[in-house]
Amino acid sequence: MKEAVETTLRGPEAYSLARRAVEAMEAASVWPTPLNFELWLQYLGDPDGALGREIERMLAAGEPFTEAVAEMLAAEYLPRGRLTEEIRDAGRVLDRELSSVTEAISKAHKAQSAYGRTLEGAAGSLEAADGAPQLRAIVADLSGATRKIKRDNETLEKKLELSTREIARLSEHLEQVRRDSMTDALTNLANRKAFDEQLENACQAALADGGRLSLAVLDIDHFKRFNDTWGHQTGDQVLRYVASVLSKSAKPPRVAARYGGEEFAIIFPSESLPEVEGALEGIRREIGSRSLRRRSTNDDLGAVTVSIGFAHRRSGETAVSLLGRADAALYASKRSGRNRVTCADWLDDAA
Ligand code: C2E
Repeated sequence: MKEAVETTLRGPEAYSLARRAVEAMEAASVWPTPLNFELWLQYLGDPDGALGREIERMLAAGEPFTEAVAEMLAAEYLPRGRLTEEIRDAGRVLDRELSSVTEAISKAHKAQSAYGRTLEGAAGSLEAADGAPQLRAIVADLSGATRKIKRDNETLEKKLELSTREIARLSEHLEQVRRDSMTDALTNLANRKAFDEQLENACQAALADGGRLSLAVLDIDHFKRFNDTWGHQTGDQVLRYVASVLSKSAKPPRVAARYGGEEFAIIFPSESLPEVEGALEGIRREIGSRSLRRRSTNDDLGAVTVSIGFAHRRSGETAVSLLGRADAALYASKRSGRNRVTCADWLDDAA
């Protein structure tokens, strides 16, 4: 459907679709930023698609369309298209380089065969040579052919060097594209797609070697109230603040990710339950230890707190089940007053 929208954008409907997108954004009080515009174009181009349904749900629920939300939606629904385009471009460059190398090699091959024939001819002529002038002519032929093959080889070397450099540049670019597609743009943490993949891998590894694995989910307390009171820009800064604490405290092999709007997650491979609990208590305390200020007005925003739930993987447990138990523990933290850490096992013990 993205392709259909892109085709429309170069067709007779282009201006009408663009105008409708701006009008629809204005009607929904959404700023016409480039990213929002791209989201709205996709949405209007395919209102029944996943992005369209999500935007309509948000509008119906009166949920604010913040920069953070736009970035989450873009990460979820737009990058695949962008990625495909980048990969197509990379494929085109690679094709070009490969055919240029193939052509150079085939030319070199032909030149080598011609040189071989010149040598063979010279050998025959040498046997039949009669006197110095004929010998001089044969040697002149040979040295001319040798100079030519040398030049051809130098050209081939240069071509190969250029192509090697171009392919190295391409592979660096693709690595950057891969990293971007796995990163949440607002917080620079792993995004949900990357997190889902890493959790699945961690579960597979734990299954294979019987190692330990824990999963924590964190949610910022009263984030909506915070957004409504101080505005979305400040809300975005709070997300970045929490992310900055997580990235300092959850260094590899731990994996910290932004899981959803104001929800974060951390994977703890190979750590015991008390170690995980200690780390999470530290994170919770660290986040709540600072009184934030609103940058534009210097208003005191007070402290931000988080509720945390975590679960230690049971033998044979799937990623989905582990996530479900960590989520249940998070909701237990919320229910029992917020700003606390709950382990899923404690819920089971209490039941
Ligand atoms: P940022 O605004 O891009 O700031 C990045 C880093 O620069 C901060 O990392 C901090 O080390 C430093 N920094 C920026 N502004 C100040 C400042 O006015 N005073 C001091 N002492 N240092 C400053 P940090 O602390 O890990 O924060 C990460 C992000 O969290 C910030 O990114 C910002 O988006 C948010 N944040 C943190 N504290 C506050 C705050 O008090 N108010 C607001 N609105 N946002 C905050």
